[in-house]
Amino acid sequence: MTEVEGSHALDLVLSQLSKTNGGRKLKVGMDVDDTAARTSEVVRDLMKERHGFDFSLVGNKYDWSSTGATDKHFMDIYNELWQRDGEEIEPILGRETFALLNEKVEFSFVSARGGNSSDGLYKWIYRHYGKTANVVVVNPEPYDMHGIRKLERGFDILIDDSPYVAATMKDEIARNRALLLVNRWEEAVACRHEPNTAVVKDAEHAARVIFEARSLHVGPMQE
Ligand SMILES: [Mg+2]
Repeated sequence: MTEVEGSHALDLVLSQLSKTNGGRKLKVGMDVDDTAARTSEVVRDLMKERHGFDFSLVGNKYDWSSTGATDKHFMDIYNELWQRDGEEIEPILGRETFALLNEKVEFSFVSARGGNSSDGLYKWIYRHYGKTANVVVVNPEPYDMHGIRKLERGFDILIDDSPYVAATMKDEIARNRALLLVNRWEEAVACRHEPNTAVVKDAEHAARVIFEARSLHVGPMQE
């Protein structure tokens, strides 16, 4: 992420704030896997441990098919982890940051997943962030549509790491939306749509940009 990207993120949030005319809270959605939660590292570690796949050359590539691991290898472990309520999965978004987001904007966690992992997701979120956390689960099928499904929920700002969501920002449905793209996967950053997408370091950074834009927009007296 460059300095220019950082100021683009602030401008983008300010422009979304100006559309609310101060009459309502900004509607913000935050993806769970690899945005609020450190999921894929645990899945990769277990794929390595159980099947011997070597991820050392994959780096920050979203596509790890060169290792020999298949979607099934990934999904079997992924579902198993979430069926154990994500016990091994660490949060990335801090609890205090969540509380502030939950107070200052209309905040929801948003995730695309099947029924067999959503119960674990709800429990993970309530365990780490408490019962006031709002959770939106969208249909994961077909997988390349999940960006559109998230945008259909009408977030002014979506915080996400997915290349599919990054690519979706070119579509008509994203016209009034903005994406703060977590700088995690090379492919996602490469396919970002510039006008309505800005790259941020992580979920905490995205939150800081939102708080900064908010204080610039409403002024410190009205905070
Ligand atoms: Mg994700």
